Amino acid sequence: MHELSLACEIFEQVIATATAHGASEVKHVTLQMGRLTHTNPEQLSFCFKAIADDSIAKDADFVVEMMPPSLECECGYTGTVDEKQIRESSELKSELLAYVAAMKCPICGEQARITGGRELIIKSIEIETENEN
Ligand SMILES: [Zn+2]
Repeated sequence: MHELSLACEIFEQVIATATAHGASEVKHVTLQMGRLTHTNPEQLSFCFKAIADDSIAKDADFVVEMMPPSLECECGYTGTVDEKQIRESSELKSELLAYVAAMKCPICGEQARITGGRELIIKSIEIETENEN
């Protein structure tokens, strides 16, 4: 499963970072996930919790923030996909189709190039240390 291997990578990074900072417990993990990663955030969270069981991250809150895809156009425009526009196109069958339809430059109306939206980043890790003053 795709989510399981991702969760493993995230877990290893979280534990490595936490131990480097002398953590006794990981309290909170926040991820930023591009909407085009084709990853299910619920499954990712579930896998992370399964892997983290019996580790210092077993009680950590696992939060996934979804990020809109970013665009770049030949006219010089750069920005993110207008998510409001996507919610309004309710006639479209799936969210992915809505994204494809929305990937036009808002300035000149030409098809814009997708430059981001596939990233998966650990945004922040909150830890507890044993020897806090
Ligand atoms: Zn343009």
